[in-house]
Amino acid sequence: MDESWRDLDIYAPTPEHALVARTVREFTESEVEPQALEHDRAERFNHALFRSAGELGLLGVTIPETYGGAGLDASAAVIVCEGLSRSDPGFALSLMAHAILFAHNLSVNGSEEQKRRILPKAVSGEWIGGLCMTEPEVGTDVLSLRTTAKRDGDQWILDGTKTFITNGGIDETTEGDVFLVYAATGEKEISTFLVEKGMTGFRLGQKWTDKLGMRASFTAELVFDGVRVPEANRVGELGDGTTQMMRNLEVERLSIAAMGIGIAERCLQVMVDYANQRKTFGRPIRDYGQIQRYIAETFAEWKAARSFVYDTARRIRLGAVGQRVDADATKLFAAQVGKRAADAAIQVLGGYGYMGEYVVERLWRDAKLLEIGGGTLEAHHKNLSKDLCRDPGLVRT
Ligand SMILES: Cc1cc2nc3c(=O)[nH]c(=O)nc-3n(C[C@H](O)[C@H](O)[C@H](O)COP(=O)(O)OP(=O)(O)OC[C@H]3O[C@@H](n4cnc5c(N)ncnc54)[C@H](O)[C@@H]3O)c2cc1C
Repeated sequence: MDESWRDLDIYAPTPEHALVARTVREFTESEVEPQALEHDRAERFNHALFRSAGELGLLGVTIPETYGGAGLDASAAVIVCEGLSRSDPGFALSLMAHAILFAHNLSVNGSEEQKRRILPKAVSGEWIGGLCMTEPEVGTDVLSLRTTAKRDGDQWILDGTKTFITNGGIDETTEGDVFLVYAATGEKEISTFLVEKGMTGFRLGQKWTDKLGMRASFTAELVFDGVRVPEANRVGELGDGTTQMMRNLEVERLSIAAMGIGIAERCLQVMVDYANQRKTFGRPIRDYGQIQRYIAETFAEWKAARSFVYDTARRIRLGAVGQRVDADATKLFAAQVGKRAADAAIQVLGGYGYMGEYVVERLWRDAKLLEIGGGTLEAHHKNLSKDLCRDPGLVRT
């Protein structure tokens, strides 16, 4: 029996993890890598690549098999986000917003009817989904959101604006197909709604162009102008939106941390190759202590972050809530490791590192988003210290 999957360098690997890892690696090398620079430069989402990811099953690794997914755990989601980010974090961000923020979220919180109707299309890539949390005046302070949903018979009327929504605009004229939207249904009460393309009053607002990084993913403002949403599109219990949001932020943060370790791995490979072949003063630059320090520090940080990410992934219970300490800490660390690795790689490559075709300048720009999206570094500081000070038992082994 082939036992090679046991060598997969993660915690508690299974044959299914090995299959996902192999699929992601082959897909990334053959299809993702060749298009990455071009789509970054053109600021274009690669719809065809997204459909290919769907055909390979990569859009539904955590979705139950009943709805067309693989029914796997958080480690599988990490394998996908890590692997794609070695080549194209922008594409990985779009995929993550669809597969985790939208599809996984719906699979945990949606009704049977909603899941049967929508998830198979999301898993195949026929429909593209996204999650609407952030508003023009409300980001970190997300529970103060201003979008409202007022009941009118068997419908809800949504008013408000969401911004920075990944997959919020797929081309000039159409938005993504379906979104989970958090809206206030009362004083300090948040509920979740499914808003679909074509609903009257739902339109694309400002399309954010000229982003620093993650340019292969679309980011847009979405406007809800008296959108009538049927009661059948309300997700979970009335007023359960805050819990749904917190629960999903945990797996979102873990997935973003996975992107950080994917970026760090690639940057390390690039700097090691370059240090071996580049010569100055008649010697390869690997001989110089300052270059050695970049390589060695990056390696140690990458290994530590990778262990942390997979350890958290092994322990996190999908669909549960209350694992914020681990999710916040993992992202806080791995996001910065990804960015520092890209920065070190540019430095090791000197002037070439500054040029697009040497890859690491793109990864450096993409890595910055990991310190902002899904919670800023400062939000993680705030959450972590609040939780640790409230329950000092968390710092004992
Ligand atoms: C490319 C991209 C894609 C995104 N995709 C999505 C998406 O799909 N869906 C979605 O809903 N959102 C998305 N976002 C939004 C993202 O989650 C927010 O930008 C993020 O949560 C920060 O919110 P903000 O930008 O409003 O910053 P603010 O909350 O206004 O913060 C501004 C600054 O103040 C700091 N700050 C705020 N409060 C505190 C505090 N209490 N203590 C200390 N410092 C504080 C912040 O850390 C930050 O440095 C995306 C953003 C980007 C850039």
